[in-house]
Amino acid sequence: MPVVHEVDVVVAGAGQAGLSTAYHLRRDGYEPERDFVVLDRAPGPGGAWRHRWPTLTYGRVHGMHALPGMPLTGADDDRPSSEVIGGYFAAYEDAFGLRVRRPVAVRAVREAGDGRLRVETSDGVWLARALVNATGTWDRPFWPRYPGQELFRGRQLHTAQYAGPEEFAGRRVVVVGGGTSAVQHLLEIAEVATATTWVTRRPPVFREGPFDEERGREAVALVEERVRHGLPPQSVVSVTGLPMTEAMRRAEEAGVLRRLPMFDRLTPTGVAWADGTETAADTVLWATGFRAALDHLAPLRLREPGGGIRVEGTRAVRDPRVHLVGYGPSASTIGANRAGREAVRALRRPPLPARPATGRPRPEPALAGAAPGPAGA
Ligand SMILES: Cc1cc2nc3c(=O)[nH]c(=O)nc-3n(C[C@H](O)[C@H](O)[C@H](O)COP(=O)(O)OP(=O)(O)OC[C@H]3O[C@@H](n4cnc5c(N)ncnc54)[C@H](O)[C@@H]3O)c2cc1C
Repeated sequence: MPVVHEVDVVVAGAGQAGLSTAYHLRRDGYEPERDFVVLDRAPGPGGAWRHRWPTLTYGRVHGMHALPGMPLTGADDDRPSSEVIGGYFAAYEDAFGLRVRRPVAVRAVREAGDGRLRVETSDGVWLARALVNATGTWDRPFWPRYPGQELFRGRQLHTAQYAGPEEFAGRRVVVVGGGTSAVQHLLEIAEVATATTWVTRRPPVFREGPFDEERGREAVALVEERVRHGLPPQSVVSVTGLPMTEAMRRAEEAGVLRRLPMFDRLTPTGVAWADGTETAADTVLWATGFRAALDHLAPLRLREPGGGIRVEGTRAVRDPRVHLVGYGPSASTIGANRAGREAVRALRRPPLPARPATGRPRPEPALAGAAPGPAGA
């Protein structure tokens, strides 16, 4: 029999979104381990940043927002972002005593039968009033299906397995995808590969100039709109365009950013288009993004016919006990910060009813939401 714990709120995932949630819970008076618990499947701190390739140095990360309540200062731009941010997250968890439990993977969340959620994990069961799901996307790389994929004799890998450009030295490489990761891979690999080919489904849109707050808000609003209609969220780049950097301008001049439309199939020795053109390749790198890692929520049947989960604010429309943070419009470091705050605000219990006319004292609330019960306001 698994050990069964009782807690008010379970936070699944300790990346930016989960830690922001935990911080705001603490600020609201929730005690870690007593009122809430943070479960993370990874063996150490850092969320998805733990896995980012070594050449993605801190200086090359654009627009990383520090977690609430503790600035990230003095970081060396030349150090891998995985080390800088992993170290920062570790210090953060310590500073606020968040007591993240790891490695603990949430395997399934289902009805407990008494109004609570039953959170089944690799290390016991938690019964909780609410779940804040902050499991990110890194664990669900998206590989599109193309004819001939199984025939290709070279190597196929995804961004999730990319470890830097060295292994592509002397290879002919096809990079698939129109996002920031694809462009970063391409620029690095072009330095060492024999040949690179870049293919994307839609022509990439390059964005000149700074990404100001207004454009940021517009981009978030577009993703929000999809999520509100129960559609799977789009990547942020698909609505913001690719920021044109100096390195990209140089790569463009050198012909590295010459983009071809998506191929129609893979062959044993490369990729081919419907018009009969073929390009020989040793490696196909799928920089085709990630999907939200939400399989463990399947028993709750939150998905809409459109394939996405409809949320209002952070709350799942089909089950108000569940909040999704770092999902869709909040899938950025700043979005994750805000979503954590918003989820905690929504989790607060509704105010107690006005004091009855008899003057009988009403019970003092214990810690916000310490007892099990229906989801808050
Ligand atoms: C290559 C790349 C570069 C990026 N660069 C930037 C940038 O420059 N600026 C920016 O703002 N954003 C950037 N982003 C986006 C940003 O990293 C994310 O939006 C943000 O960090 C996500 O935080 P998160 O907490 O939602 O997810 P994650 O950081 O992925 O954290 C999720 C956590 O949940 C855990 N987990 C997963 N499943 C389970 C489970 N079943 N049970 C328990 N734990 C689980 C994971 O182990 C992980 O620790 C980038 C993304 C990528 C892929």
